[in-house]
Amino acid sequence: MDQSQFLRLAHSHGERITAFCQELVRMPSLTGEEGRVAEFVLETMEALGYDEALIDSAGNVIGHIRGGSGRSTLLHAHLDVVDPGEPRRWTDGPYSGVLRDGYIWGRGASDDKGCVAAQVFAAALLKEAGLTPAGDVYVAAVVGEEIGGLGSRYLAGSFHPDLAIIGEPSSNTLRRGHRGRCEFIVTLRGRSAHASVPAQAINPHYDLARLLLALREIDMHYEPVTGGSTVAPTLLRSDQRSANVIPGELMLHLDWRNAPGESPEEAMARLQALLDDTLGEETTFSLDVRTDHAISYTGYEQDVRQAVAPFWMETDDPLLLAARDQLQQALTREVAVDVWQFYTDGGFLYGAGVPCIGFGPGDPRMAHVFDERLSVDELIEAVAGYMALALQMGAVGG
Ligand SMILES: [Zn+2]
Repeated sequence: MDQSQFLRLAHSHGERITAFCQELVRMPSLTGEEGRVAEFVLETMEALGYDEALIDSAGNVIGHIRGGSGRSTLLHAHLDVVDPGEPRRWTDGPYSGVLRDGYIWGRGASDDKGCVAAQVFAAALLKEAGLTPAGDVYVAAVVGEEIGGLGSRYLAGSFHPDLAIIGEPSSNTLRRGHRGRCEFIVTLRGRSAHASVPAQAINPHYDLARLLLALREIDMHYEPVTGGSTVAPTLLRSDQRSANVIPGELMLHLDWRNAPGESPEEAMARLQALLDDTLGEETTFSLDVRTDHAISYTGYEQDVRQAVAPFWMETDDPLLLAARDQLQQALTREVAVDVWQFYTDGGFLYGAGVPCIGFGPGDPRMAHVFDERLSVDELIEAVAGYMALALQMGAVGG
């Protein structure tokens, strides 16, 4: 195959792809409110000639293009966006989808609707061009990513492709993994009393002080590429609202980024050991993972534990080497391999045994900021990249 055929195909459909991405950005889709944009993606897949397209019980849109007898490949991206904040801080308003200076502007342009648009078209353009993928190709536009992976947790429990390409902004470079994230809540329980008689209280603030100092010295799991696991105390809450009462309970939130090689369970065990060593002279304490009850727009409900595993692939993994080779040929340039600083839904699929590779258009620094935008050139190039991966990765390994 001519190495530039993917780029030529993507560019020849550039206007359709750009218009689709603009429409996606114009449909606000805060987490839990993805129904309209999901219907639009479903209709687009049907219009583009997908062999099957459906919305599952969690609200994820799944499209299928039939391939040969090789391994199956999932292209994965998310439909939900974070709140745009104060609308006046956006040059054109948060959901303008306007095309200006070579960029599509608006909340979600980079995170993550450019990836959705590129993936939806990549699989369809293969079929339109009469190119049969080596194995079945699935495109999942999932819900609930921004609140801890509601849609992908459901997907990972019900569907096991041989490989997942995780679409999150990477400026069209490859990503071979990221750290996970656990949000722990340590509750310290003492005895409340009037602040004028501290001797009658067991003030949990003193144990909190011991805990914070011990946390700064804790021996964390080390991994050279990501720099290893880190922990940061973030929110602190009390059971009191008055400044003249000694609280009976303090709740400290810890943001723990677990590096590859440290599962959420291992991170929790490490923290539990520190708590056992440091606390409990007078107060009692408990350790929990923050858990939120989440409901998708379809009514699907789940308790979402805020404990996300890393995904990881070694530099010499044949899947990664093949993906890099295919992308370099398709894009006719060098494609770097790096890791993501943030975490993605890939952790849930990886945890279910699905190898994951990251690739997507958009600057990672554009995620969750005012005047979020996506380079149209990157969007179109990403279509060519996803086409190459969807067509050929099913022939690798197995
Ligand atoms: Zn994202």
